[in-house]
Amino acid sequence: MKALDVLSAALFPPRCAFCGEFVLREENMLCRRCAAEIEWIDSACHLCGKSVEDCTCSGRKNEYSGVVGAFYYRGIGKRSVLRLKSKPSVAKRLGYDVAGCVRAHYSDISFDFVTSVPMWRRTQRQKGFNHSEELARRTAENLSLPYFSVLEKIYKTEIQHKLSYSQRNGNVKGVFSVSDELRVRGSTILLIDDVKTTGATLNECALMLNLSGAKAVYAATAAVAYEDKNRE
Ligand SMILES: [Zn+2]
Ligand SMILES: [Zn+2]
Repeated sequence: MKALDVLSAALFPPRCAFCGEFVLREENMLCRRCAAEIEWIDSACHLCGKSVEDCTCSGRKNEYSGVVGAFYYRGIGKRSVLRLKSKPSVAKRLGYDVAGCVRAHYSDISFDFVTSVPMWRRTQRQKGFNHSEELARRTAENLSLPYFSVLEKIYKTEIQHKLSYSQRNGNVKGVFSVSDELRVRGSTILLIDDVKTTGATLNECALMLNLSGAKAVYAATAAVAYEDKNRE
């Protein structure tokens, strides 16, 4: 270990990404209690991201060619996503989990690059970082893929989870635009967000990427909402 690493390990001992408790370095930011509690999604329905056993989707086609998530957005899984919003370091562990999920479900797809759902520029400036971008960058690192920011959010929207299902689709219509068309054209893209609830945001981002000539867009998130869409 380099001197600087030793110093930072002493000053900032690793914590569990899910509950915040101190963990050993070799535990890779996941304590034993959380490891037993997380509701991992193993056999994913690529249309809704839930496990095949839990899938109740009608097979509705999306703009994205598939969506997968590492675990359900409830309990300790939800807690980790909420922690990610204020602590970019949590992305280190969640990016590892998303990458594992991508390897498991999209093994036959060769991605050109990874991108993320953007945040409105002013919100990002105030916050200091975009947690979805942090997650996407860490996921890309784990998959040895490049990360490019190719989308931008051109309007501020109401926070999605405060809206009903029907309001959500309208809320994100036309709020994203592609900022790097050249990069997008002909590319197979891995689109990352922290959580998939109704899928409206991922769908709208994928639509814009498709309109700019993306070859295919596959989505992956850390968490997938378990509840039925009108009760999320
Ligand atoms: Zn924990
Ligand atoms: Zn499904």
